[in-house]
Amino acid sequence: MRAVVYRDHGRFELDPEFPMPSVEQGEVLVKVRYCGVCGSDLHIFQNIGHVPSGGVMGHEISGLVTEIGSGVEKVRPGDRVTALCGGGYAEYVKMAEDQVIPLPDSVTFEQGALSEPFAVGLRAVRESGLRAGDRAGIVGAGPIGLFTMLAAKLAGALEVYVAEISPARIEAAKRMGADGVFNSKTQDVERDLQSMVGDGVDVAFDCAGAKGTLELSLHMLKKGGTVTVVGLSGLPDEFNPRWLFSKHARIICVPGATEIWPMSVELMGQGRVDPSPAVTDIVSLDDLPRYLDALQDPSSHVQVLVDPWGDRF
Ligand SMILES: [Zn+2]
Repeated sequence: MRAVVYRDHGRFELDPEFPMPSVEQGEVLVKVRYCGVCGSDLHIFQNIGHVPSGGVMGHEISGLVTEIGSGVEKVRPGDRVTALCGGGYAEYVKMAEDQVIPLPDSVTFEQGALSEPFAVGLRAVRESGLRAGDRAGIVGAGPIGLFTMLAAKLAGALEVYVAEISPARIEAAKRMGADGVFNSKTQDVERDLQSMVGDGVDVAFDCAGAKGTLELSLHMLKKGGTVTVVGLSGLPDEFNPRWLFSKHARIICVPGATEIWPMSVELMGQGRVDPSPAVTDIVSLDDLPRYLDALQDPSSHVQVLVDPWGDRF
């Protein structure tokens, strides 16, 4: 089968003859409909994380079950599922039974592939202490920032303000319902936000995890607010702790979300939320290595989905 394989030194290449996975007891084989390109894959690309040469990345998967091993009871061949496991940049991927969730008919494959990153935003909002009627601020309008914005609205946020530097992501935030979007490269976010809302937001989310974004999240906050750190690049940062004092701020960290991932599928199934407008690009396995390169500069992409089959699915 075809798969995009990680090579050393941050290189990816298409392998047209990657070995087809064989299903063992308790395992499920999924024909990949879509696989999301995740920020953490890109951080690995920048050699911050580590993936062995010859490995296949991509873990935000939707697809069709084509084969099950003995003992599998949760799904049957023909079931539509979302899956959370490595190896999604390929035509097929196998995983343990507990790594799949069946998709209701009302959830598209596109939404299914976004269910895990949406759950990250959902969990961040649940843990942040945001209450109905609060104002929220989001730093970074990549997929996680946008999904955190949707989750904040779902939880009853009065208004959500976004700070971002990339034009494509600024557009996506507006398109998906931000009440105000600031270009943090050219604007004084704190001053401009205060001129709109008086003090600042009750809860801010650092969804970028880049240099300076934790401090920017503190700038957006009103006195006594909470910053929730969602995005982490793993790179060191420095910020002036005086912001903690002047804002009486609390900082909490909410990484990951696997335990509430099924909740995100249910919310989509009920039509309460739709993360799919974040998708800006759908790419084939052939084009993926080039895209992974281009995504190092995220100025013109937001959420990229890999489509291994196209019309042949
Ligand atoms: Zn991910």
